[in-house]
Amino acid sequence: MPLNKGVCLLAAVLFIVKGEGKVLPDIRLPKSIVPEHYFVGIVPDIHQNNNAIEGFVHLDFFVQTPTDRIVMHAVNLTLIEDSVSVNLLPSKTMEMMRENDVSKTSSSGLSEKLKMLKVLRPISYDADKEFAVIHLGSKLEENQRYRVSFNYSGMLARNLKGFYGSEYLDKKSETKRWLGVTQFEPTSARLAFPCLDEPAMKATFTISIGRRSNYTSLSNMPLVKTEPMSNKEGWFWDLYEKSVPMSTYLVACLVSEFAFLRIWARSEAIEQADRAVQVTSDMLEFLEQYFQVPFPLPKVDLVGLPDFSSGAMENWGLITYRETTLLVNPKSAAVRDEMNVERVIAHELAHQWFGNLVTMAWWNDLWLNEGFATYVQRLVLDNVSPKYQYGSLQALDFLSVMDADGLESSHAISVDVAHPTQITEIFDAISYTKGAAIIRMMNDFLGEATFREGVKNYLNEKKYQNARQDELWQFLSEQAHQDSVLPLSLDVKTIMDTWTLQMGFPLVTVQRNYTDGNAYIQQKRFLRGVKPAIVKENKSSSLTNFVEEKNSRLPNYRWWVPVSFTDSVAQNFSQSNTRPAIWLTPNELSATKFIGKNEDSWVIANILATGYYRVNYDERNWKLLGLQLKTDHQVIHPINRAYLIDDSFALAAAEILPYTTAFSLIEYLPEENHHVPWSSALRALNYIGRMFSYTKDHGRYKDFMRSLVVPVYTRLGTEFQSDDSPLTKLFRISMITQACSQEFRPCIRNAQLLFDEWMDSPDPIHTIKIIPDLRSSTYCTAIKYGGQLEWDFAWGMSFNMTSAQDRDVILSALGCSRDPWILIRYLSFVLDPKSGIRKQDGRRVISAVASNPGGRRIAFQFMLKHFEEMFSYFGNPVRVLQMLSSTTSSLNTQEELVKVR
Ligand SMILES: [Zn+2]
Repeated sequence: MPLNKGVCLLAAVLFIVKGEGKVLPDIRLPKSIVPEHYFVGIVPDIHQNNNAIEGFVHLDFFVQTPTDRIVMHAVNLTLIEDSVSVNLLPSKTMEMMRENDVSKTSSSGLSEKLKMLKVLRPISYDADKEFAVIHLGSKLEENQRYRVSFNYSGMLARNLKGFYGSEYLDKKSETKRWLGVTQFEPTSARLAFPCLDEPAMKATFTISIGRRSNYTSLSNMPLVKTEPMSNKEGWFWDLYEKSVPMSTYLVACLVSEFAFLRIWARSEAIEQADRAVQVTSDMLEFLEQYFQVPFPLPKVDLVGLPDFSSGAMENWGLITYRETTLLVNPKSAAVRDEMNVERVIAHELAHQWFGNLVTMAWWNDLWLNEGFATYVQRLVLDNVSPKYQYGSLQALDFLSVMDADGLESSHAISVDVAHPTQITEIFDAISYTKGAAIIRMMNDFLGEATFREGVKNYLNEKKYQNARQDELWQFLSEQAHQDSVLPLSLDVKTIMDTWTLQMGFPLVTVQRNYTDGNAYIQQKRFLRGVKPAIVKENKSSSLTNFVEEKNSRLPNYRWWVPVSFTDSVAQNFSQSNTRPAIWLTPNELSATKFIGKNEDSWVIANILATGYYRVNYDERNWKLLGLQLKTDHQVIHPINRAYLIDDSFALAAAEILPYTTAFSLIEYLPEENHHVPWSSALRALNYIGRMFSYTKDHGRYKDFMRSLVVPVYTRLGTEFQSDDSPLTKLFRISMITQACSQEFRPCIRNAQLLFDEWMDSPDPIHTIKIIPDLRSSTYCTAIKYGGQLEWDFAWGMSFNMTSAQDRDVILSALGCSRDPWILIRYLSFVLDPKSGIRKQDGRRVISAVASNPGGRRIAFQFMLKHFEEMFSYFGNPVRVLQMLSSTTSSLNTQEELVKVR
């Protein structure tokens, strides 16, 4: 899955909701049996919101240790007692039976010729552990294979997980349509069919889907044949090819009336799939070449869904997406939308190798899936669509994750998890973004060739299997030693354990001696210093910090830190200069390096910010850097400019550096023409703005911001040119948004003019003259400075947008109103299914209101008041908590405010 952003305070909030110290039961399966092959038939009745699901399972398994029970996962499913049978499989004939008998579509028939075991009734269920247990009259014998067969029944889920039903309006025929689709990761396969639902329990699957004649179905593998159902008039069985060995969470099914083009979507939206079609094959080709491992499946389908809880899901061969992450309307797409679609497609395709082919053994190593997919998506984009310069944008993501990771409430990348709630919790920025950041660091300290070769070997050796992070380290170490990149006495595990087993990251301080030319370099854990005001405890999440509690082998909070350098003489910001000039180690916290006596020459560490850490310098070096930025900032690479700014503000917030140093570094900003350093500065400045938002000094803050932004806004103008690069477009959008939100009158007037023109046009649905890139800030500004009329118009328009991104833009802008009652009414729509707000968009509405300074408190109160209701309506506690956390993002800033003043 791709990451949903905005999870910073999630951990803190979880603490409050769950209560402290509640021990969750061990919910792992016994290891006595190992699944080998599932033959699953599922009949979901989605038509007209019916919600029955029935099906059958034949599961062939191998017995590792004798047992008289078969334990499977099942949630809200009932096994039909009479249908359960267990047979010994003669090992020789088994293969043959699998191939020949797969067309059998009920649990009877096939089993008679085999030795049958007595099944004791009733089947028992353990709701806490989500188990269904079949008890047997005799023991299953070691090293034998058996088949358990049964029919089962249940209900389709309604809250966007398991096998769930969903509806949408077909605009051409003005009729309702229904679809059924699966979302299993991490632990929802058990809602659709009884199975051994743990990632290491890989097996092959033969899937059969029952459907009415007017629907089509899809699954991971290609269709073999379609047959009418013998017992159901007007129904058909679609039988799919046997899969490669894979985890249960990757199984996928879709039943819909969608149109297709290898990409499946609502028929009226299908024309927006062109870009996805174009890039998908290029990306697959790149991935196959880069890692030298062919795509293992005969086909891949990409499906855009109108209601989907995540951004996308990497089911093997049948990847599901929200419409906004797959489809773009070429006529109305903003550059951000295009890039987002490519980013998510790249991410899910990367998973076909990292996650699907080689899967983490247990969810504690989720980062092996998500960190890799997030890192590889960048490789893919930088090669297939270099125009986006995505690598430099991802460097900004690494900065935001440092904010979360610099808190004491963070958690290690590799973390003990047991219960499904804990598993869902770690789908966060730490697993995704920090995971990607440390893989990037590894790529750069090993060198790309070594890294790539090591990963290739890892994929080839571990394919169709599971892996732990130690196994990845093993392959990389071998390659590093072979290439003499690391000394034989040092392996990758030693280095990387310090990054994955403990939370946080170091601050590297470079203290220069200007007389002898040496620099004294040391590491220390970086802490933001300010804890969220709402929680003071260290253990703010149910996730434990592995190092502190379990692993006394490692000294606390010391890392293997690769440090690279350049200075004002060399000015070497090339990729080749990112290799470490020195290492700081857990045993040698500091090092001395001769840098040169020139006291007028600055030094910069962490070239291109490939290392996951912050850097501080002595006062004189900061001054020299500030001076360089003012005289000729382009000498320093844009990514390093961004990091200098962000580091200085983060250090100021942590009381390590005076705010005057940070502010003097950004005095040059009116001259800055690059999106990346500006974004970094705006992140820091908006944070400070939030602190001032309820104080008498807010006006002064706005004056200051205008003094930085207006010169650039004027220079860039509001007209988009056909040859603008994506970064230039993003930069202009960002400056317009800032100028308007800092109340620069010409900007506001311009937005109002454009919006009025739209409102007054005779056919507003089909003629939006506002160019896509400007829509977000124009709508927001017009709604902010308008009243009910503007709001109601935009709300009405939100239902008439054929492109999902256009609708998202309006939904976000609707939160910009300054009328409390309008905001309260808007929030109330979230819990009202008739309002037209889809479940998947609930979080967008909440965070739209919460990111409006006038709406934050309203949103927070709304969440508190309707907390229980939100849980039952959305059915996904973690999502609800993420919504809550988006409303609390300013609560921790009061303490810091004093310092900035
Ligand atoms: Zn993912």
